[in-house]
Amino acid sequence: MKAIVIGGGIGGTCAAIALKRFGIETAVYEAVKEIKPVGAAISIWPNGVKCLNYLGMKEPLRKLGGQMRFMAYKEYLQGQTLTRFSMDPLIQSVGEQPYPVARAELQSMLLDTYGRDEVQFGKRVTHVEESADSVTAWFDDGSSATGDVLIAADGTHSVIRQHVLGYATERRYAGYVNWNGLVEIDESIAPSDQWTTFVGEGKRVSLMPVSDNRFYFFFDVPLPKGLPEDRATLRDDLQRYFAGWAEPVQKLIGLINPDTTNRIEIHDIEPFMQLVKGRIALLGDSGHSTTPDIGQGGCAAMEDAVVLANALQTNSLGIEDALLRYQEKRAYRVKDLVLKARKRCDVTHGKDMAVTGQWYEDLKTETGERILSGMCETILGGPLE
Ligand code: FAD
Repeated sequence: MKAIVIGGGIGGTCAAIALKRFGIETAVYEAVKEIKPVGAAISIWPNGVKCLNYLGMKEPLRKLGGQMRFMAYKEYLQGQTLTRFSMDPLIQSVGEQPYPVARAELQSMLLDTYGRDEVQFGKRVTHVEESADSVTAWFDDGSSATGDVLIAADGTHSVIRQHVLGYATERRYAGYVNWNGLVEIDESIAPSDQWTTFVGEGKRVSLMPVSDNRFYFFFDVPLPKGLPEDRATLRDDLQRYFAGWAEPVQKLIGLINPDTTNRIEIHDIEPFMQLVKGRIALLGDSGHSTTPDIGQGGCAAMEDAVVLANALQTNSLGIEDALLRYQEKRAYRVKDLVLKARKRCDVTHGKDMAVTGQWYEDLKTETGERILSGMCETILGGPLE
């Protein structure tokens, strides 16, 4: 069997690694010459970590991951702690640690594990065609590739999604802008072993440790779409949006490098239940685009990869049947993740300030039990024990 994988991001590389490990011939085609991930870092929750362990990346992942032993929420004006608790109960319940990692390093690890030289860069798919016993991808340079099965891991702007669904999907603006980047750890801003989040006014400022003494930071602000803001205005914009916020937030804004800070208008796509058509499977953001509010988009792509490779490994009833089994296992799971993230997004970002205000109040009595049990439920819904 030959699998054609479209897209060399998290989903595509994980799928290719998984298929290769099961002895399935793979070819990966990536549109750009050099992959530049959209965000600075990503938190890989234990369900994602288990998938990477399963795919043979246990040791390299540990070297990239920050140590997130505690979690804390702080109120925005004085920086007083609303709640702080250990992440140990979560790790004990699910049997694995979360790892925040720099995206460029994650991408490198995935490409190295698969075989960087085996990825064909600069190959942008324009359309796909299926016949009774094969599937062909056509690229914008006029070339094509034919295989037995095609994995569409071409991201949230997927061109293959419409072929699978038979209709075009629209991305939905989630109502907030996210700025993210990396900065050297400064313990006067937040402890180096803690996921720290300042909350107020429907906004948030968050810091997570990654390897090599760096914080992954992000700022979220509810804003209209399409504002004329860019790197040139970035520090001024953040100073304006976070005027009056506590000293550590001001310090962070002073420290960040606007040239390496990303500004992203956050979107998702209304979940759909069809992930496959014939010999083509959607995987990762092409099949389920979520807001990053529960940090599960990339983890879900890793889960997809493991489940898809397992389904294709047992294909005695044919490829179409294997893909339908993949869809059966994934459709509800990924829909649930997208909707959970959307719900969290609305509470965090002041869609209804009364609800958000109540959440701030609830944080004062949070012992960690409620937050961690919600996370456990999400993590344990993954495919691996
Ligand atoms: P992508 O990473 O988008 O990769 C798709 C690839 O396909 C790209 O390399 C692209 O160049 C290529 N491509 C596109 N079109 C074509 C074409 N026509 N032909 C060939 N190749 C093509 N997830 C988490 O798990 N934890 C987090 O903490 C987290 N934080 C996030 C924070 C932010 C601000 C954002 C925006 C997202 C976050 N996510 C997180 C989600 C995560 O980034 C995505 O879910 C993940 O990157 C999806 O991987 P993918 O491979 O499906 O898509």
